[in-house]
Amino acid sequence: MPEGDTIHNAAKRIGSALLGKEIRSLETPQERHRFDRWPDRLAGRAVRSVDAHGKHLFLRFEGDLTLHSHLRMGGWWGVFRRGERWRRSPRRAWLVIRTDEHEVVQFDGPVLELMTDSRTRFDRRLAMLGTDIVADDFDEKSYLRRLRGDDQARGFGDALLDQRTVAGIGNIWKCEGCFMAGIDPWRRTGEVSDDEALSVVRAIRPGIRESAERGGRVITRPGGGNWVYERTGLPCFRCQTLVRSRGQGDDNRTTFWCPACQA
Ligand SMILES: [Zn+2]
Repeated sequence: MPEGDTIHNAAKRIGSALLGKEIRSLETPQERHRFDRWPDRLAGRAVRSVDAHGKHLFLRFEGDLTLHSHLRMGGWWGVFRRGERWRRSPRRAWLVIRTDEHEVVQFDGPVLELMTDSRTRFDRRLAMLGTDIVADDFDEKSYLRRLRGDDQARGFGDALLDQRTVAGIGNIWKCEGCFMAGIDPWRRTGEVSDDEALSVVRAIRPGIRESAERGGRVITRPGGGNWVYERTGLPCFRCQTLVRSRGQGDDNRTTFWCPACQA
């Protein structure tokens, strides 16, 4: 599942392909969008900006129109030079934007909608989003306030994935952040102090921001790879205790942790 850094990196790549460029064509090949007439409504409009909040991406066009996308589990944004081969089947493309030099393609995107700018500001789902872990102006106070407004019996690891508390943390960063801060992700949120809750987001931020800038695979360990994510049964890099994993929360997302370092 794409995390906040992946989406911010996509916004950056899409921005460099589209900003200041003439849009030659815009297509919505998916059946679901066949009658939407987006190509007509967006014809001749330049892209003003491309930005991300958490896992949501916004392509803002001239004239108050914004394409909002969320990739959920399997979606992907591809940016290709014209003539370069797409790395997914064209049948899976939902949106194709062409300039003279590039093709920007959204694949398998279950959420793609055209909205006015004012609607993006008042949309309930977007208004509820927590402060963005990747953003320059990440707001620690807002994060703590929302964390405490959530169910305090909820496991802390699960609470970190709630996009209303903090936007942009996915399962990899949840697991790695708890390890780096030495916090047991199974503790009830109410038993995690404010300082501990802050130590996790502070541990995550430099790496997730770097990853948003650089793109590619998430690396959290100085030696490469990850501390605990997908390392079930392997010795912990710090203490040699075997890394464990188990599904957590309503969505049963797999939590990886070291039972010794994160006791
Ligand atoms: Zn350990």
